[in-house]
Amino acid sequence: MPLVSALPGQYTGGVTDFEKSRAVSASDTPSATTSGEPGRKILLLKPRGFCAGVVRAIDVVQIALETFGAPIYVRREIVHNRFVVNDLAEKGAIFVHDIDEVPEGARVIYSAHGVSPAVREKSKERKLRVIDATCPLVTKVHVEAVKFARQGYSLVLIGHRDHDEIEGTLGEAPDATQVVSTVEEVETLQVPDPDRVAYLTQTTLSLDEARDIIHALKAKFPKIVGPHSQDICYATENRQVAVKNVAHQADLVLVVGSNNSSNSNRLVEVSRNLNTVAYLIDDSEKIRPEWLEQAQTVAVTAGASAPEILVQDVINYLHRNGFGSVEEVEVMPENVRFGLPPEIVRAIAVAPAQPATAGA
Ligand code: SF4
Repeated sequence: MPLVSALPGQYTGGVTDFEKSRAVSASDTPSATTSGEPGRKILLLKPRGFCAGVVRAIDVVQIALETFGAPIYVRREIVHNRFVVNDLAEKGAIFVHDIDEVPEGARVIYSAHGVSPAVREKSKERKLRVIDATCPLVTKVHVEAVKFARQGYSLVLIGHRDHDEIEGTLGEAPDATQVVSTVEEVETLQVPDPDRVAYLTQTTLSLDEARDIIHALKAKFPKIVGPHSQDICYATENRQVAVKNVAHQADLVLVVGSNNSSNSNRLVEVSRNLNTVAYLIDDSEKIRPEWLEQAQTVAVTAGASAPEILVQDVINYLHRNGFGSVEEVEVMPENVRFGLPPEIVRAIAVAPAQPATAGA
């Protein structure tokens, strides 16, 4: 089965393509009741898992591999999930930390977290053929950073210093920007003109933490300005709201996602802040049996970069361990899609037609 069934014709959106390629079938959807211990149940949160930016970024790599052939270089993890990265690496994607590691003239994909102008410049010097899979919602924050810096504002970027996204956004206006991660750090901020300060945030922060930091900034710089619409993205917000709505009904919240996934870590924090025990797990192998001993109700969700196949794996593990019924709790609908980057649209347009497959 081709990874991208839409090639070379219409783009149809990739989450299903990614899952189809791993043979997740409708019968895997955990909506039924299987035999389990009385009273033990699973609450499966919705929305969960892949966001539009992650779907797009994975599609970009898959389409590039299909269209141009391996190897395709990818700067940093395309999304912060080990399963996804390993899968794409097996298919011919080569993940590098720095642009210097990409051979001159080769094709390179920028990850969903975006890059700084310095990286773009280096790519140009090395005559790399760039495909930009930066999430459009990250690009929005870059555009705001450039705008505020040009208008002479000192910029406060709220986020985690070691995250790829912050590195990229900071690079848009490094001389004008300071990163803060906590309310305490706001107190030590020094700027040339306290009446000319703007703030931006990482897209995957905790809504509550960001709110507290913004309050502290407003107290310190009463004339501070911010983005027209919040930078924390819809997917981060929706997954946090879902946990907030359901955590009080559960004895345990399991968040499927990798350790370096910011939005996944925030889901664990949201649950723990509501006094419901929560753990971040890459897959079912990370579940410790003792976590389940006292639990009657387990809520399951997934960060924006975690594929549904890993959620199914966790559900199946819970089934095998006495949790028979699954109730999917849809807290709000989510139906966002992003178009593909122009480099990929052009590549699809000129790709030779593939023979139709029977039953397609
Ligand atoms: S989590 Fe939000 S900002 Fe990050 S890729 Fe997904 S939609 Fe884009």
